[in-house]
Amino acid sequence: MPKALKNTYLENLPPTLFTAQIPISVAKPEMVVFNGELAKELGVEETFADESKAALILAGNELMEGSRPISQAYAGHQFAHFNRLGDGRAVLLGEIQTDNGLYDLQLKGSGQTPYSRRGDGRATLYSMLREYLMSEAMHALGISTTRSLSVVKTGEDVYREHIHDGGILSRVAASHIRVGTFEYARYLGGEKDSEKLLEYTIKRHYPLLVSEDNLALALLQKVMQQQSELINHWLRVGFIHGVMNTDNVSIAGETIDYGPCAFMNVYHPQTVFSSIDRNGRYAFANQPNIAFWNLKIFANALLPLIDEDEKVAVSKAEEVLGKFPQLFSKSYLKMMTDKLGIQNHMQEDASLVEDCLRLLQKHKVDYTNFFTELRTNGSLIQVLREDTDFNAWHIQWEKARVRLSNLEESEALMIATNPMVIPRNHLVEEALVAAVKGDMNPFHDLLKALADPYNERLTPQELPVGVDEGYQTFCGT
Ligand code: AMP
Ligand code: MG
Repeated sequence: MPKALKNTYLENLPPTLFTAQIPISVAKPEMVVFNGELAKELGVEETFADESKAALILAGNELMEGSRPISQAYAGHQFAHFNRLGDGRAVLLGEIQTDNGLYDLQLKGSGQTPYSRRGDGRATLYSMLREYLMSEAMHALGISTTRSLSVVKTGEDVYREHIHDGGILSRVAASHIRVGTFEYARYLGGEKDSEKLLEYTIKRHYPLLVSEDNLALALLQKVMQQQSELINHWLRVGFIHGVMNTDNVSIAGETIDYGPCAFMNVYHPQTVFSSIDRNGRYAFANQPNIAFWNLKIFANALLPLIDEDEKVAVSKAEEVLGKFPQLFSKSYLKMMTDKLGIQNHMQEDASLVEDCLRLLQKHKVDYTNFFTELRTNGSLIQVLREDTDFNAWHIQWEKARVRLSNLEESEALMIATNPMVIPRNHLVEEALVAAVKGDMNPFHDLLKALADPYNERLTPQELPVGVDEGYQTFCGT
């Protein structure tokens, strides 16, 4: 039996938070890539067994059983400025019930909605394939993320700087509730909207918190922990989200919205690829600060739910938020010492980490390959040891890794923590350029290469000379 979609969002939340919206049909839906494994995990493989029927549904031309599509309202601080937003080019088809809970099935690029503002509601095939590739790579890296079920070509042109083929992504998420959804509820919604949203969110994502005295405070704390964990994973693999606006912060703790994201190759803390991030607000090493900033915005949106008395609410929120810096740096130190294969790390290993990063920056070393070469004592390490600074660091590192464990354990830890392969920018671009010309082979080859990233039998990826020179990514194309 094909699964029917649910829509608990529509059923439980006030109508200010969404608008009923049927996706706008497209000319000629054609399946470009379909994630059969994910379909199986979700138990919807039967629904999508027939490819041309699947293309019709995942382009929005036909509806699945039970589907009552909506576009969701949300707001957000974009580059620190508050804006009224919403699904301007997306439609939530509904929710899929699985043994692990509900998953949203959303179409992105599905046409104009009441939230489109001046946008056309569409997306390019190129950028939807990019999101598919990046999100599936993140999943394979073991990092919490929205998933991609398919990309369909629309058969229609999309006008940007140039004319592009249109594409629609079907995105699977634990939910699309964002910090920005809470901002919308508080500042633009009706009187009881925040309360209803809080209740729904707790029930859907954190049912264990229902018995807490102060639900809003408990949620703030939980979201804070998850953001800390998530950003640490990003820093572990060199991921730069690129547009950490509050509308792109998922309350379920998933990485969401793969617009201008990219992976860092050569280590530099201020690496930025996004063409619109001129001041480096969302630079690689600034991501923890921004996560903290976003959490403060979240806390503000929750204030009336934390306590009726604003002063009391502020002091309670500040007490929770005040724990973020320590929470983050503690898990950062653990993550970085794991990368270095130091088990049972000590506080003083922080300087070993700092020195390591300083040396990587000085020698313009590839962030990913460095940790692999360090483990295998590869040629890169031989070269670096010609620098007396690095050599001194290396001696300290060798001591630290066997201080409280042995070499085998250290090596296993390094293998588990450091990916051998990541979506290299030049490979991503090559695959996408071929894909939009109709050759999906490089795309599938790359997806396959990224599917098992911690396999130590893989060869480190070679980087072309001048990799990333002038490399730029773009938002919402
Ligand atoms: P993003 O930068 O992808 O997080 O999007 C920010 C906001 O712009 C969201 O409200 C999107 O729905 C909206 N948006 C982005 N691209 C388009 C488009 N082509 N048409 C309508 N709305 C869009
Ligand atoms: Mg967004």
